[in-house]
Amino acid sequence: MPKVNVALHCGHSQLYDDPVPLGGEEVYCRRCGGYSTVERNTEVRVRCGQCRLSRGYGADLVGARSTANKHVVKNPTHTVSIMDGGAELERVSMNEGQESLPFARQLQERAQFVQGHQQLLKNVTKSL
Ligand SMILES: [Zn+2]
Ligand SMILES: [Zn+2]
Repeated sequence: MPKVNVALHCGHSQLYDDPVPLGGEEVYCRRCGGYSTVERNTEVRVRCGQCRLSRGYGADLVGARSTANKHVVKNPTHTVSIMDGGAELERVSMNEGQESLPFARQLQERAQFVQGHQQLLKNVTKSL
């Protein structure tokens, strides 16, 4: 997975692979030697429910959709999810086409994700 460049509130930016911090999360800035808040950051990811396809696209939603559509054409029994910050935005399958998921559900999933994610980041910081 390519590293993602994340902009911090202090003006610095740092490269991350997994887990990539999300907008509003606190991370340790190595250059400031202190904690800073992550500026808005979108990480769109394509994930297939039936195989190992899982790929990050940064902010490129169009690229993510294109991959999802090609994947279900090649694999008509697969259903691909387009995720953003841990929330499922859209689901693509041969039967249903491209389906947007309810916004309320996205918000809920995102909140749960951020909670788990923040914990994960704390563990990463501890082991640095
Ligand atoms: Zn800094
Ligand atoms: Zn698949």
